[in-house]
Amino acid sequence: MKKIILFLTIIILFLSGCARNTHETVFAMDTVMDLTLNDGDVIDTLTGEIARLENIFSPTRDDSEVSRINAHGGADVLSPDMQNALKKSMGYAAETGGAFDPTLDPLVKLWSHEAVPKRADIADALVKCGYLNIKYDGTRLTLPRGGGLNLGGIAKGYTSDVLKKVLVDNSIKSAILSLGGNVVAHGSRSDGTPWVVGVADPDGGANATLGTLRVSDKFVIASGDYERYFMQDGRRYHHIIDAHSGAPSTSDLREAVIVCEDGAMGDAYSTALFVMGSTRAIEFWRAHNNFEMILVTKNHKVIVSKGLLDSFTLDNGGYSYETCAR
Ligand code: AMP
Ligand code: MG
Repeated sequence: MKKIILFLTIIILFLSGCARNTHETVFAMDTVMDLTLNDGDVIDTLTGEIARLENIFSPTRDDSEVSRINAHGGADVLSPDMQNALKKSMGYAAETGGAFDPTLDPLVKLWSHEAVPKRADIADALVKCGYLNIKYDGTRLTLPRGGGLNLGGIAKGYTSDVLKKVLVDNSIKSAILSLGGNVVAHGSRSDGTPWVVGVADPDGGANATLGTLRVSDKFVIASGDYERYFMQDGRRYHHIIDAHSGAPSTSDLREAVIVCEDGAMGDAYSTALFVMGSTRAIEFWRAHNNFEMILVTKNHKVIVSKGLLDSFTLDNGGYSYETCAR
């Protein structure tokens, strides 16, 4: 049986705390986006920015900037957003040792057919991937032959940063934006209490949570094996690729959630930590002081980093709770 399931990874709870809400749902970047704030004009600006950035980053639109770059094996001139996102992506690729890698398009495409590819095809795609194989001097980008950028692991987080800036520039004090698994909890609810964000239960259906996070002025970003996947011979093949094997990562994790103040970083890290697995992810967290995390393992352990002890509540009896400290 083959199946792809797509649903929101993070659920916003208790929206009633935002008075006189305007709410808009848009389908963009292959996911459902919910924008909630009390200014209709700003919502229009936000949806305009989402559409603009989708035209840059969409891997499925032939006329997007990334598709044109891939079709031409590079580009002499990149748009400012592409430059910015690529620079950030290359930095996160180096920092995570390639666990996050923006050059995996050949592998992502190969695994998008809802069937396990042939070994030879994986080997063939692997040699076209790898962030160390592209040449980028800050202006000019050259891809290896047959190579391609895929910014699906960072595009929504990058977009979150752009939307956050729109909110700040328009003096919006309270808003909550959900871009698939990427949430911008801007300010607090209008009554001054923190936003409440549900953390998805990988075993549950759409909208099932394993706990809640109370946050103000944070990005909450999740990656997991339950977002998009197909089943073959009783095994789950999800959408996050390990650049070493060329196949969906087989770490001990089902979900990695990042809480931080930079959307692009959180998006890159959530993808990377999911690939790294819990041991390397904890080491990575210990070496950084710019994010907190929740890791959900295949054996139903929820590992919560120390900075979230006061803001996360586990309320699902199917999971055990562990904390990690520096
Ligand atoms: P996310 O949901 O943010 O974890 O991103 C997953 C998406 O990023 C996939 O659908 C691919 O488009 C792309 N991707 C898959 N594996 C990786 C990886 N190891 N590093 C960066 N991007 C990836
Ligand atoms: Mg990501």
